[in-house]
Amino acid sequence: MTRLTVPISAENLDHAGRQIRAAAAAGAEMLELRTDYVENLTVEMVRALVAKVRTLAGPEMPTIVTCRDGRQGGARPYPTKLRMQVLAAALTAGAEFIDCEYENFRSVENQEKIRVALSQSSRGRLILSAHSFAGRFPDIRKLHRDIQAVCPSAIPKLVYTANHINDCFEALDLLHQTSGERIAFCMGEAGLMTRILAAKLGSFVTFASIDQASATAPGQLTIEQLSGLYRYASIGPATSLYGVIADPVGHSLSPAIHNACFESLGINSLYLPLLVGGGYTEFYLFMRAAALRKYLRFGGFSVTIPHKQNALGYVAREKGIVEPLASKIGAVNTLVLRKEDRLEAYNTDYAGALDAITAGMGIRRENLKALVVAVIGAGGVARAIVAGLSDAGARITIYNRTREKARKLASEFGCEFGGLGDLPQMDAELLINCTSVGMYPNTDETPAPDNCIRKGMTVFDTVYNPAETLLLKQAKHAGARTIDGVSMFVNQALAQFRLFTGWQADPELMRAAVCRSLAADQKG
Ligand code: NAP
Repeated sequence: MTRLTVPISAENLDHAGRQIRAAAAAGAEMLELRTDYVENLTVEMVRALVAKVRTLAGPEMPTIVTCRDGRQGGARPYPTKLRMQVLAAALTAGAEFIDCEYENFRSVENQEKIRVALSQSSRGRLILSAHSFAGRFPDIRKLHRDIQAVCPSAIPKLVYTANHINDCFEALDLLHQTSGERIAFCMGEAGLMTRILAAKLGSFVTFASIDQASATAPGQLTIEQLSGLYRYASIGPATSLYGVIADPVGHSLSPAIHNACFESLGINSLYLPLLVGGGYTEFYLFMRAAALRKYLRFGGFSVTIPHKQNALGYVAREKGIVEPLASKIGAVNTLVLRKEDRLEAYNTDYAGALDAITAGMGIRRENLKALVVAVIGAGGVARAIVAGLSDAGARITIYNRTREKARKLASEFGCEFGGLGDLPQMDAELLINCTSVGMYPNTDETPAPDNCIRKGMTVFDTVYNPAETLLLKQAKHAGARTIDGVSMFVNQALAQFRLFTGWQADPELMRAAVCRSLAADQKG
């Protein structure tokens, strides 16, 4: 069982008391006293800290005591002599684990002190740790073996910065290919999946902070994110994986939506944010690495900026199956890895938009034939929607700031086109905004003047943050019917969820997850 461990990074005893209470209340399964954060550290202070854990978190709460070397990420540059005394005192005070840097443990003097302290403790255990802040270790397997050789009863802890998500697979492989008590994960935003997947691969611990302010390493998740959003307690070896491939990925709404649906339907799956930096090569390497590692059980991916075209290229190279309209659009946003190694690619953006339109207008897909539509924008989303609508037989005019782009898109799909200045002359039953105009934080902007919105028409804004844009307010005021971008987002996610799992998710649950995430994003 992987213990959810919360570092206590306090400067003094009072502060530590508050952090210990908060960690225990949030569901910490183990605490790590990072004594290198304590001001004017003494051996007495360490004893008092261990005693405080017993009083505030209960006698059952296991505790690691660490006094990290400044050269390996320690907060204050305490001398080695004091740091060894601190670890020895922690064991005498009853701490279950002490964490010593493998590098320092190799010194005969330090090793002697630690071994004596351990021999005098009835239950104390040693964690031997190695950190590489610059990037991957030269040979992580050898390092793991070396640590085991020098002290077979110690728990090896190997931590390095992932400079790219593709660096994570080494840590995951180490966990998969070794057994017993061991810890391996990556620091940094690109290393995030290793912190979550620690539970799937049986790492001895994974670390999470009480809040962002008390994090002790780059990329550390909060305990709320790990146990709430990522349903840490339900992750196990059989958990199948999905995720959104994007750069940036931090503000993606997809993990909140898909994980909420897995939870409500009782499906043993987990949806991850996957920060894939770079271009086609990095995307290709990530996909190969994820698909080849069957033990990870990746079942599918949402794909967004900047990889929608890369995904199409990858599927072609792997001889996968691409939904015909997605080929015509030239971009896919959904990849599914079927059990028989079959790779499938879809574009649920256009399907989500069409579903939002038909539901919002109270019509069926076949009623889209001959519908008069004005599309503002000629970027990726416009392209997907124009492809879907033209396939359904709608009569479309594309208006764009850069007129030439509108012309090009229109000529591909047999549409009319114009510049934004032509909008007041348009006479459409359905107006769709496919630009980013009006998106948070520029919520007082609109892509269309009031005089082109009439009573009786339908206005669909693909912008989903905020859900009610200025354009939709104008439309309501003019007596037009409105469709918001959240409907499209939810519909494309529903379609993805169906492709991934074969299950129909609850649209209301998805919508609530989107609105919660948007509200949290705007607050934080
Ligand atoms: P994109 O490929 O970058 O295209 C952006 C479009 O917006 C272009 O047509 C661009 O015109 C136009 N534009 C940008 N700034 C403008 C301005 N200040 N005034 C006038 N036009 C402007 O982006 P995309 O991927 O198509 O995404 C567009 C929007 O769709 C996003 O911002 C997002 O809000 C929304 N979206 C919604 C969903 C959903 O599920 N609801 C999903 C994805 C995206 P030029 O050609 O002249 O540059």
